[in-house]
Amino acid sequence: MSFTEREPYKCFVCGKTGVKLWSNCHAEEFLCAECAEKHQAPMYDDGFGAFGNPKNGRLLPKWTIDEDGTVPSGFSRGEKSTLFCVDLRDVSIFGESGCTSYLPACSIEQDADGSWFYVHGETSPEGFSRWESLPLRLPVL
Ligand SMILES: [Zn+2]
Repeated sequence: MSFTEREPYKCFVCGKTGVKLWSNCHAEEFLCAECAEKHQAPMYDDGFGAFGNPKNGRLLPKWTIDEDGTVPSGFSRGEKSTLFCVDLRDVSIFGESGCTSYLPACSIEQDADGSWFYVHGETSPEGFSRWESLPLRLPVL
């Protein structure tokens, strides 16, 4: 039995739970789709891929996240990606700088009461399908 740490699965900016969330590779802060769209970093296409460096060429249009949790990918034209870059300098307590890659935070489990948790130090094979089953946005009340 290895040590794992569970933490509430909620957006660190707006506090939303029960929706798809993304995080950086350290899974320090979780971000919902709406906050990701608000804090997206400019991406530039050099003809081979999309990167955060303006020297790479053409500025790509702003993205919105689809219901399946993907954005248009600059890496393969016409294809979608679940990974995107955000600029969290204004909101992150970890002092993120500029363009940070965020990917699905899918090491998640659900309690009997319906609340979701992120499980550190463990990768569950069912994680991604659980992540896929979560809604992207909550209905506006
Ligand atoms: Zn949010």
